[in-house]
Amino acid sequence: MIQRVTGDGRLVPLGQRDRGPEPRQDRSTRANRGRRWMKLRAQILARDPVCKSCNRAASQQVDHIKPLAQGGDDSYANLQGLCIPCHQAKTANEAKPTERVERTSLGGTVVRHNPWETR
Ligand SMILES: [Zn+2]
Repeated sequence: MIQRVTGDGRLVPLGQRDRGPEPRQDRSTRANRGRRWMKLRAQILARDPVCKSCNRAASQQVDHIKPLAQGGDDSYANLQGLCIPCHQAKTANEAKPTERVERTSLGGTVVRHNPWETR
C-alpha cells in the first residue's frame, strides 16, 4: 500500500482522505492510561509513603502537583503522594481552573479566586 506523510507526521493511505489525528479520548487510549496509571500510582506511593502536604498521615492517593488541566504531566516530578483529606482539599481548589463558584446559605453564589492559579 502506498502511503503519504501528512504535515504532522502521520501516514495516510494514498487516495484516502485524511481524517485528522486519532481522537485522544477514544476508549482504548483511556484503558491504556488506566493500566499505566495504576502502575505509576503504586510507584509514587512507594516513593512518598507519607503525605507530602501535612507530613503526618500516610499517603493514600497520588496527586498531580500541576494539574493535567493546567498543562501538568504524569512525570515523577509532577506527582506526589497525599493523604485523602489533603488531596481532597487540593483538588477542590482545582475543580475550576479560573474561578470557583460556591453556593451561599442564602441561595446566591460567590465566585472565589482560585488560590492555586497564582502560585
Ligand atoms: Zn496530608
